[in-house]
Amino acid sequence: MIIPFNKVYHTKNEEEYVLEALRSGKHCGNHQFCSKVTDLMKQKHNFNEVFLVPSGTAALEMGAVLADIKPGDEVILPSYTFSSTVNAVILFGAIPVFCEIEKETMNIDATKIEALITPKTKMILPIDYAGISCDIDEIMSIAEKHNLIVMQDCAQSYGTYYKGKASGTQAHLAAFSFHETKNFNAGEGGALVVNKKDWLERAHFIQEKGTDRRLVIKGVKSKYSWVDKGSSYLLSDILAAMLLSQLEEEDKMKALRSNITKGYTTLFNSYVERNQLSIFKVPKNVQINHHAFWVIFDSQENAELFMAGLREKTIYAYIGYMPLHSAPMGLEYGYDKNDLPLTEDLGNRIVRLPFYTELGEIGLDYCINEMSNQLNKIYS
Ligand SMILES: *Cc1c(COP(=O)(O)O)cnc(C)c1O
Repeated sequence: MIIPFNKVYHTKNEEEYVLEALRSGKHCGNHQFCSKVTDLMKQKHNFNEVFLVPSGTAALEMGAVLADIKPGDEVILPSYTFSSTVNAVILFGAIPVFCEIEKETMNIDATKIEALITPKTKMILPIDYAGISCDIDEIMSIAEKHNLIVMQDCAQSYGTYYKGKASGTQAHLAAFSFHETKNFNAGEGGALVVNKKDWLERAHFIQEKGTDRRLVIKGVKSKYSWVDKGSSYLLSDILAAMLLSQLEEEDKMKALRSNITKGYTTLFNSYVERNQLSIFKVPKNVQINHHAFWVIFDSQENAELFMAGLREKTIYAYIGYMPLHSAPMGLEYGYDKNDLPLTEDLGNRIVRLPFYTELGEIGLDYCINEMSNQLNKIYS
C-alpha cells in the first residue's frame, strides 16, 4: 500500500458545479460561485468580509497592500513558516523581524513579541501552524497597545476555532489558502478576510486592479477609473465552483480527518510519556481543523531514521519548514543561525506525517502499524 504525504479529496458536487460555471459563460472573478462561497464562509464562520483571491500567497500580498506596508516598515513574524508569509511583506520593502516560537504549537511565542517592537514596527504577522490557532487574543492586545496591524496567516487553519470564534475572525486581516495541500482544495485559491470595516471599500479597489469598477457594477457610477494602487486579486468563478463543493462538505471531511489525529495521538502518546518524543499540545481554548500532525523526535538522527524506515514501506513523511532566518534570504537580511536557537533546533527534529482526508477512511491502520514498527526499532 502506498501512503502519499498528501492526496486530493473529491467532493460530491464539484464536477457538476464546475460544469455549470463553464457553461454559464461567466468565468472571471466575482460571479455566482464566488458569491456562493463568500456567503457560505460568512454564514458558517462569521467572517466580516471575504475576498476570494488566486492563492493564499495572493491573500497575504493583498493584505500587505491594504495595510499600506512601505519600505522600512518592520513586520514581526515567526521564522518557522512558509516563504509566502515573509515574501508578502518584503515585496513592498518591509524588514522581517523574526520571533521565536513555542515548542507546544510551533507558533509565534506571544510573550517574546513586545521586546521586538520598535518605532518602525507596523505589523504582527503570526501563522496558525498545522491548523492550531496562535494566541490571537494576546497578539491583538499587544497590537492595540502599540497601534499595530495584525494579519494572521490562516493558510492552514480554515475551520479552526479559538475561544469559540473561527480563526481569521479576530485579526484585522486573515489569509486563507485553498491550495490542494490544504484541507479544502480549489487547485489554487485563497481568501483574504477583512475585519476592519473602514478598509472594505479600499479592499474592493485593490482587488480590482486599483479601479472603482465595483461602483459601476453597483450602479453608483457610470464609468470606472483608476483610484488606488492594486493588482489582479480575483479567483476565477470556475475554481470557486470547485471550492464551493469542497466547503459544503466541511463537517464530513473534518470528521474523517479527526480519525487520523486520534489514531496518531494514541500511537505516539506512549512514547511521549516516556519522554522519547513530543507531539503538539492543542491549547485548551482551541478546537483544531485537523490539518496536519507533527512529531518532534529526540534527535535529528532518529527523525531521519523514522522517515527512511517508512519510505521503505512506501509511507511518505517529511520534515517541516526550513526556518527562514537561517535560509539564504534570511542570512541576507543579516540573520545568523544562532539568533533563534529554539526554532533552529525544533526545525531539525520535526517530522510531519501523511495527512489527507481519505486517510481517515483508507490506509490509516497500515500507516499506524508500520509507524509503530519503526518506533519500536528506534526506541527498543
Ligand atoms: C500554504 C501556505 C501558504 C501559501 O498558500 P498558497 O495558496 O499555496 O499560495 C502561506 N502560508 C502558509 C503558512 C501556508 O501553509
